[in-house]
Amino acid sequence: MSFVKEKVSYLKGLSDGLNIPDETSRKLYSAIIDTLEAISEALDETEADIVEIDESISDIYDALDEIEDEIYGGPLDDEDEDELDEDDFFELQCPHCGDTIYYDQDMLSCKDEIICPSCSGKVVPAVDEDD
Ligand SMILES: [Zn+2]
Repeated sequence: MSFVKEKVSYLKGLSDGLNIPDETSRKLYSAIIDTLEAISEALDETEADIVEIDESISDIYDALDEIEDEIYGGPLDDEDEDELDEDDFFELQCPHCGDTIYYDQDMLSCKDEIICPSCSGKVVPAVDEDD
């Protein structure tokens, strides 16, 4: 039994034991105690709901951790790196010095040419629109 329910139960016993002579007062106290009982019942249900929600949130966090481990966890092997490059970066070779240059979508959309970081030569990527 919850703390609040115990208090209400005590009040009910006290009210019964006092044998209030006035009927109107007795009815009023009885109605008040009934209301308190209903409130304590609702409180208990709310508490149980919160516990349930808390458990659900913990489950969600656990699932998120698993997903996070799946995406970021562990050392990247060659396969993972290839996938990362395909998704986020383009790779091309500088025609001037032969260095490999990595660039992303943003760089591509804001300007047509890319400056090679090794030789400062202009590199125009050949973009395959169908890809
Ligand atoms: Zn270059």
